[in-house]
Amino acid sequence: MNDVNHDSFSAMRDAVQRFHDKHDLKSHGGEELAYRVALMAEELGEISACVTKGKDREALAEECADLLILLIGTAISADFPLDRAFWDKMDALMKRSSRMVGGRIRVSEFRDS
Ligand SMILES: [Mg+2]
Repeated sequence: MNDVNHDSFSAMRDAVQRFHDKHDLKSHGGEELAYRVALMAEELGEISACVTKGKDREALAEECADLLILLIGTAISADFPLDRAFWDKMDALMKRSSRMVGGRIRVSEFRDS
């Protein structure tokens, strides 16, 4: 494990796959998408609580990691390449424009303009 490239998305995906395999999530409902959505919503709530309750950055980082692990696991469960989806979407986002909405910047397709 010490030679794992921590900058590699495939190493992250493999680690999450090992976690799924360790607990055999696939055979026990752990890869059902509706259940995974509920788990991700729960973690998003924990991220929200970090912000609204003023918890420290380490707590926020841990909850963000929980959500990222669930996202990677959801891509495994639904059998799509999350890294390719990321780069496809990132390329699209970089082509979008931004505008101020309610005092904060928003990047979107802004179909009305
Ligand atoms: Mg959590």
